[in-house]
Amino acid sequence: MSRRDELAANLAAVQERINRAGVTLIVVTKTYPVSDVEILKDLGVDNFGENRTEEGEIKAAAVPATWHFQGGIQSRKIKDIVQWADVIHSLDNKEHALKVGQRAERPIGVFLQLSLDGDPERGGVIESELSALAEVVVASPNLTLAGLMCVPPVSAIPAEAFSQIYGAHQRFLKDFPNAKSLSAGMSGDFEVAIDHGATHIRVGSSILGSRTQR
Ligand SMILES: *Cc1c(COP(=O)(O)O)cnc(C)c1O
Repeated sequence: MSRRDELAANLAAVQERINRAGVTLIVVTKTYPVSDVEILKDLGVDNFGENRTEEGEIKAAAVPATWHFQGGIQSRKIKDIVQWADVIHSLDNKEHALKVGQRAERPIGVFLQLSLDGDPERGGVIESELSALAEVVVASPNLTLAGLMCVPPVSAIPAEAFSQIYGAHQRFLKDFPNAKSLSAGMSGDFEVAIDHGATHIRVGSSILGSRTQR
């Protein structure tokens, strides 16, 4: 089977499992080559995600599409991230929010990363800190607050975690009614996430194959 046939079959299988209107599929191409991104683009994918800025920069320059950044943000990389990323899913502190807003030279969509357990290793802010962070984003003319992003803790039961995320998003919407998007769900759990209101899913290995790392 050619790589194209393989990617086409995997993509079709994921699309069938999504089985709901209004869900944006972001194909996470991290660790895979530009040639795969080109094939996927040709197969109709127009949203791609990357975790590292150098890698995203190269792929975004090669393949015009909507590019999403979902990796941990390092302050000194922000000036590079805003060059190629159209949407950032992993914003989780005020300094970074200010800097993204200052450095952006065009409109950038922003998801605030919610942490369910407060583990600093995995990124995200706890629910009680979301509003203050959102205020910084809303005050920045170059940023559009899209909604919330969350990766459940590894030990969590998916249905319980996604239901908590949904609840947090509903409460957040009372203060930020335009922040309607919810970025949640990866290869292993995207159907459960969609059942709990995810509007954006970030899927890598189910389409491209398993990675040895990241
Ligand atoms: C790698 C990654 C994904 C994609 O993960 P898969 O399990 O390969 O689908 C989605 N979101 C984030 C934040 C990631 O780091």
